[in-house]
Amino acid sequence: MTGEIIIPENIAQAKKYLKQKFVPLAGGTTLLLNRSANQKLLDLSKLKLNYIKYQKKSINLGAMTTIGELLEEKKLENIFGGLIPKALLTIGSNLNRQMITVGGNIVGIHPWSVLPALFLLLNSRIKTIQKKIYPAEKFFATAPKSLLKNELVSEVEIPLAWAKSIGRWEKLSLTATDYPLISVGVLPVEESIRIVTVGLSLLPQLFIIARKNIDKEIENIGEKVKISQDIRASIEYKREILKNILTDILQ
Ligand SMILES: Cc1cc2nc3c(=O)[nH]c(=O)nc-3n(C[C@H](O)[C@H](O)[C@H](O)COP(=O)(O)OP(=O)(O)OC[C@H]3O[C@@H](n4cnc5c(N)ncnc54)[C@H](O)[C@@H]3O)c2cc1C
Repeated sequence: MTGEIIIPENIAQAKKYLKQKFVPLAGGTTLLLNRSANQKLLDLSKLKLNYIKYQKKSINLGAMTTIGELLEEKKLENIFGGLIPKALLTIGSNLNRQMITVGGNIVGIHPWSVLPALFLLLNSRIKTIQKKIYPAEKFFATAPKSLLKNELVSEVEIPLAWAKSIGRWEKLSLTATDYPLISVGVLPVEESIRIVTVGLSLLPQLFIIARKNIDKEIENIGEKVKISQDIRASIEYKREILKNILTDILQ
């Protein structure tokens, strides 16, 4: 491939190249494998988007922070009952986790992408260098690339209002590092329980249920959930597995 690669030194330069149809390059774990001929790339590595910031009411993760760096951050183990590192450890191999970034995982979305579901579960907000702010429910209601057009994600803000709730994350896959057949995240919040799924469709799915009549709520989720074809398992198998995982976690 012969396309140009530019490494902007600051946000102003990055904005200029985005207008010229340069494509953002983060960890490169998808983009460099599928690069089309003469595609012009904008390497984000010098934009200082690699950080974890603690604010009074939120944690803000820079878009270029890698999964490996998040896993080194011990403070993340003390919120949401350790939900965040537990979910992150289900992503690929240790080697992949050193390259995959927050921004790349949420914008280049796949059915197996963990961070979109995690950020949806935690009611996060996605911010861009163009100063736009998208609630996760809006950002992941459609393929993020079609929403963003030429925008660049700068950070994800996770509110801490529910930080004392104990979350759960379960993955079912053929091997430990394989893509999930299904993953489920659960976070009890006040009178309700938030549930997200990974591996059932391109976009993560969020369900908010009451804490009573759990059996009935699980049956309802089984009926409502959208499941795409997957050569590894039938739709009905995945539906039953989802209900079994939820029953195990919630009862
Ligand atoms: C073997 C393997 C196994 C994997 N397993 C899993 C798994 O189980 N679970 C999981 O969640 N992921 C998994 N991944 C990672 C996932 O498939 C993607 O490769 C990864 O999320 C892409 O992130 P990246 O930082 O490498 O992005 P890149 O490949 O650099 O970019 C991906 C896309 O996002 C865009 N982009 C990147 N950053 C920004 C930004 N800041 N603003 C706007 N657009 C941006 C790019 O233009 C591109 O379109 C796996 C990857 C591999 C190679």
